Amino acid sequence: MLDCGDSTALKGASLSDGIDPIQLAHHGPPQRRGIVVRGVVQGVGFRPFVYRLAMEEGLAGFIGNNTGGVTIEVEGPAARLDAFVVRLRAETPPLARIDAIAVEQLTVAGDAAFRIVASEVLGRVSTGIPADAATCADCLRELLDPADRRFRYPFLNCTNCGPRYTITRSIPYDRPQTSMAKFLMCALCQAEYDDPANRRFHAQPNACWQCGPQLSLSAADGGAIEADDPLDESVARLAAGQIMAIKGIGGFHLSADATNEAAVLRLRERKHRYGKPLAVMVRDIEAARAICDLTPDEESLLQSSARPIVLARKRGGNGIAESVAPGIPWLGVFLPYAPLQHLLFASGELRALVMTSANLSEEPIAIDNDEALARLSGIADAFLMHDREILQRCDDSVTAIVDRAPQLLRRARGFVPLGVALPVDAPPLLAVGGHMKNVFTLASGRFAYQSQHLGDLENLTGIAFFTESLHHLMRTFEIEPQAVVHDLHPGYLSTAWAKQWTAERGLPLIGVQHHHAHIAGCMAEHGVDEAIGLALDGTGYGTDGTIWGGEVLITRLGDTSSAGFERFAHLENVPMPGGDAAVKEPWRMALGALHAAGFDVESEQMLALLRAERSEVRVLKRMIERKVNSPATSSLGRLFDAVAAVVLNRRVVDYEAQAAIELEGIAVDEPDRFEQGNYVPELHTPEEGSGIVNLIRTGKMWKAVLEDLWRGVPSSRIAARFHAGIAEGFINAAGNARIETGINVVALSGGCLHNRRLAHLLRAGLEEEGFTVLQHCQVSPGDGGLSYGQAVIAAAMLRRS
Ligand SMILES: [Zn+2]
Ligand SMILES: [Zn+2]
Ligand SMILES: [Zn+2]
Repeated sequence: MLDCGDSTALKGASLSDGIDPIQLAHHGPPQRRGIVVRGVVQGVGFRPFVYRLAMEEGLAGFIGNNTGGVTIEVEGPAARLDAFVVRLRAETPPLARIDAIAVEQLTVAGDAAFRIVASEVLGRVSTGIPADAATCADCLRELLDPADRRFRYPFLNCTNCGPRYTITRSIPYDRPQTSMAKFLMCALCQAEYDDPANRRFHAQPNACWQCGPQLSLSAADGGAIEADDPLDESVARLAAGQIMAIKGIGGFHLSADATNEAAVLRLRERKHRYGKPLAVMVRDIEAARAICDLTPDEESLLQSSARPIVLARKRGGNGIAESVAPGIPWLGVFLPYAPLQHLLFASGELRALVMTSANLSEEPIAIDNDEALARLSGIADAFLMHDREILQRCDDSVTAIVDRAPQLLRRARGFVPLGVALPVDAPPLLAVGGHMKNVFTLASGRFAYQSQHLGDLENLTGIAFFTESLHHLMRTFEIEPQAVVHDLHPGYLSTAWAKQWTAERGLPLIGVQHHHAHIAGCMAEHGVDEAIGLALDGTGYGTDGTIWGGEVLITRLGDTSSAGFERFAHLENVPMPGGDAAVKEPWRMALGALHAAGFDVESEQMLALLRAERSEVRVLKRMIERKVNSPATSSLGRLFDAVAAVVLNRRVVDYEAQAAIELEGIAVDEPDRFEQGNYVPELHTPEEGSGIVNLIRTGKMWKAVLEDLWRGVPSSRIAARFHAGIAEGFINAAGNARIETGINVVALSGGCLHNRRLAHLLRAGLEEEGFTVLQHCQVSPGDGGLSYGQAVIAAAMLRRS
């Protein structure tokens, strides 16, 4: 597998210009070098770091921000200058990311000291805003040190940590542009802020007990709760089983004691969220190990400065309430990333807290104190709030390790608004993404900037969050779109929005097929311009008006055909009786698939299998036969639903993809593959010239599934054979595509790649067949990554024209 380090320009820098250290004397006459550093180097403690390096190496000169990076000029003995450049790369501060360093020889100017010059001297600053970062080790030490002046101060931070994106109104990233503007620094804080040698030099959110934000505790009716210490009082209430709304970094969380079954059930009841797993925050990595079996990769992801939620294997008897993540073997776990959260665990009274976004279903997360009180008063017993405004909503990011590589299932806090490289130069453009789990992308030049996870664009609240974030990012990156890219689905609100927005502005509008975008995004992350794409997904509007999602697409970025790709093969179409209702009721999908495979769905055996009444089956069968509200789909996600419905007896789901997730979960302890008995769909190759696409047929597969079911084979085994068979079927199809095209690279994308068992089987099987396999690293394989792929395709098209 190619991991992202192989092919993107995001990691590592190369020293330019051949400076040969051997030729340079240690104590020769002074020389001067100009160094330009590009990457994430502003607002991340880079200037104090360089200042310290220059001091330690005894060099004179200056550093300042410029547009796109920093400029350094240093003067001193050649060997010291060399050491300086080497250390610049080797000792980069934790939040900084160096993309490139260019070094040139300058004429000696005779500077006496090293200084940090004001930004204006070197031109206007325009490098956007850094991502939010978890409390660093130094700050955590101060937080828990009774002798420190910031002991137990819930808002301490420094240049190596703290809120960034979520507290910033607009650029440049300077205190007056953040929600810290209203807090005037005290003399001690100001002195730290002004001292280039201090860890808090130009730390924009710098604050302390004397001058910074403060906590408050409110009852559900908004009235203040009198307490000596709002934090201690909150801990006591949580320990007593209450539900708290807690203001965090990117929004409010709803919190409850994760070891208290009754408290968790009460939270579910009040939030109307019944089945969907809830994330759990624990004190530290030891506490995480106690509730989950963690691999070293999962541990380092948990402790990374983005502090995402990591899906990990539950540990038996871990004391976590069963209702936190019912029916699945994993738990979404994460560690505290704000001082306030560390303090909740500091007394040791609480072991694990449910921390779930404070919203109702897929509404945007609440950020404002009044908004939280209004929206959550029926859910939370009390509100732990503060007076630092959150200016950008940002949910927690969700990740998982697949075959030792991190996968971003939801890209939000800690990652936004970091740019992702583009393989071609893009004119300023906006890609609006899809419908569910929406994320838009602004692109310009060689970078694409993805918004945070915005949720479903199903209503005006969703669209309002979309436009609010869009205008913020447009300002931040100074990108005024010259074209807008959208999904082909005519019913998506994002499509309607794009049409109206471009009409008002007279801008070109580009439609991109859903799965083409998925695959192009995966290829672009690796800088590859042709691949056999396996787009394995829940849904997506096809160029023929049917719903796609089990696709083998030959994709070339330079493809000039009208579609821009070739649909080489796909899963055989089956009807979705009732359309969207079949997504919420997987038994309908099972009925549609079994009917299409030639089974008599009204037979006694089938009625028992579907746990359905003859009358309801008859209605659906008639809908299918008359082609009424029964769209055809080749979606793999729907096939998973259908199989899960009969194997797990799951008629309806509480949340999207629940049946498929449970099917993956039940197989967790089964072997990857079996000598025989995997349910491999057949590849049907049409006669040459027939104009029909290769089909991946599932009839025999269904027969094998049912035979095993009726023979009493355990459902875990059936689930494993299904996963193995599906992977093999698509690997076979990729093999045929290779014979026809000579392409040896496979790109994996689509929502089904959230299924780690499937992702692993595909990668391992394809590599055994000698393929190079590409998987997403920096954007989500699901619809959260869609807009990045849309931007890639549009950039390639616009470049050609
Ligand atoms: Zn810090
Ligand atoms: Zn202060
Ligand atoms: Zn999709």
